[in-house]
Amino acid sequence: MKLSEANVDKEQIVKNSMTVQKMYIDGVWVESTSKKTRKVVNPANNEVIAIVTEGSIEDVDAAVTAAKRAFYLDGWMNSLGNERANLLEKLADKVEEQLEEFAYLETLNNGKPLREARFNILNTIATLRYNASLINKPLGQTYTVNDQVQSLVVREPIGVCGLIAPWNFPLQMAAWKIAPALAAGNTIVFKPSEITPLTVIKLFELIEEVGFPKGVANLVLGSGAIVGAAIANHKDVEKISFTGGTTTGQSIMQAASTNIKNLSLELGGKSPIVVFEDSDIDTVVDIALYAIFFGQGQVCTAGSRLVVHASLHDAIVEKLAERANKIRVGPGLEDGVEMGPLITPEHLNKVLNYIDVAQKEGARLVCGGYRLTGEKFDKGNFLAPTIFTDTTPNMRIIQEEVFGPVLAIQVFETEEEAIELANNCDFGLAAAVFSTDGARAQRVVRQLRAGITWINSYHTPFIEAPWGGYKQSGIGRELGIYGFESFTEIKQINIPLSVDKINWFEN
Ligand code: NDP
Repeated sequence: MKLSEANVDKEQIVKNSMTVQKMYIDGVWVESTSKKTRKVVNPANNEVIAIVTEGSIEDVDAAVTAAKRAFYLDGWMNSLGNERANLLEKLADKVEEQLEEFAYLETLNNGKPLREARFNILNTIATLRYNASLINKPLGQTYTVNDQVQSLVVREPIGVCGLIAPWNFPLQMAAWKIAPALAAGNTIVFKPSEITPLTVIKLFELIEEVGFPKGVANLVLGSGAIVGAAIANHKDVEKISFTGGTTTGQSIMQAASTNIKNLSLELGGKSPIVVFEDSDIDTVVDIALYAIFFGQGQVCTAGSRLVVHASLHDAIVEKLAERANKIRVGPGLEDGVEMGPLITPEHLNKVLNYIDVAQKEGARLVCGGYRLTGEKFDKGNFLAPTIFTDTTPNMRIIQEEVFGPVLAIQVFETEEEAIELANNCDFGLAAAVFSTDGARAQRVVRQLRAGITWINSYHTPFIEAPWGGYKQSGIGRELGIYGFESFTEIKQINIPLSVDKINWFEN
C-alpha cells in the first residue's frame, strides 16, 4: 500500500518536531527538570529531525506520584469499565484518522519502510480496540469450596505500572503495553526508547485529547540508564512491563526485586526455522526471507537460524542468495523500498562486528556482509542482506542475538538432530517447522522450547494470541487475554453461607 501523500503535511511534522518536544506528566506538557535536551535523528541519513527534552530522576518521581494519586485518591482504580473502553476506542479512532502522519513519522524516526510502518500503526489501532473489547468480559471465577462457603476469584488492577519500550517497533510496542494496562484499570508511566520517541509523543497528544483523567497516563522521555532505571527502582511502581535486550532485562529484574514488583519481560531471541525434506523449496525461501529481513532483522522474533535438511541445503542456499541480493534496500520513505537502514551507526557497527566474528570462526558468507555505499547510502546505516552457512552449533552467530539482517544456516539429517539443533540455545522466543507431513510438523513443534511457534508460516503476530518466550527470552506474555490479565492482581473473596463463630479457642 502506498502512503497517501496528500494527507501528510511533512513540512509541518518536521517543523513541529524542531521545537523542543515535551513530556506529559500529570496532564501537563513539561520540560525536564534537567533542562537538558536530546537530538533525534533519521537513520536513513543521520540528520537531526527533532529535539526532545531529556528526563531526570525527579521527573520520574513526579510522574509516579501523579500516577499513584490518580490510581488511589482520584479513583481510577474504581473507574467504570465502560468509561475506560470508550476512552480507548476514541483513542483508536484518533490514531486511525492520523494513520498516514503516524506512519510517516515512524519511518522518519525508525527508518523502516513505509509499508511496514503502516502495518505497525494498523496493529496499534487493533490492539487498542481489542483491549477495549476485553474490559467487560467475564474474567473471574466462582467456586463452591465446600457446602458452607463460596469463593470468588476477581481480577483487580495492580496500581502504577512502569512501561519501558524499545526502538524497533516504537508505537506498536507502546500499544501492546499501554492498551492492556489502561484497560485493566492501572495508571502508567511510559518510557519510549530515547532513539525513537516521536510517534509515542504524538500518541500521548491524543491521549490528552480524548480526555484520560490527569495523572492516569504519563510520558517520561530520556535514557534507559537514568529514566528507565529510575522507573524500575521506584518503590511506588508496582509492575514493570519491559521489552528490549536480555542484559537490560536482567538489570530491571534486579531493580524490581527491591519492592518485589510484578514483572513482564519480553527479551531477545535466536529463533530457529526447521525445514524438513518434504517442504516446498520456493515457499520456504519466500517465508525465510520475510522471517529474517522484515524489520531489517531488528525484530525480537526474527527467524535468524534456518535449520535445513541436508538434502535441501544447496538448493535453498542458492535461491535464498539470489533473492536476498535483489531486495531493494534504501531510505524507508522512498517508493518501492523493501528494507531500510539499521537504527544507529553504533548498532550497524555491532552487526558488522558479528559478521566479522562469524567469518573468523569459520562460517561461510553466502551473500551480503557489507555496508552499502554510494550517494543514497553513505550518510545512513545501510547493510546488505547477509546469509551465512557452514556453521557449527557453538559459533556466536548461532548462539547470540545479532538483531540485524543476518541469517545463519544449520544442517541436519534426522528429526532428533533437528530438534536438538533448534533447542540448543539460551533463547526460546519463537520457532517454526516446515513440512507437508502434518503429524510430523505437530510432533516437532511440540518439542521446540519456544513461546511463539508456527507450522509452515512465520512472523505474523495475532493480537488475540499470547506473545512471549521461554528460557532467557523472558517472563510472562503480552497480547490476548493473557496480556490483559498480566496487568491484574488476583483476589479471592470467600463468603460463608451462614455467619457462625469458629470457636478455635475454648476460653
Ligand atoms: P535496551 O534493552 O537497552 O533498550 C530497551 C529499552 O530499555 C529502552 O527504552 C532503553 O532506554 C531502556 N533501558 C536501557 N537500560 C535500562 C535500564 N538500566 N533500566 C531500565 N530501562 C533501560 O536495548 P538496546 O537498544 O540497547 O539494544 C540492545 C540489544 O537488545 C539489541 O541489540 C537487541 O539484541 C536487543 N533488543 C531486543 C528487543 C526486542 O524486541 N526484544 C528490542 C530492542 C533491543 P534507552 O534506549 O532510551 O536508553
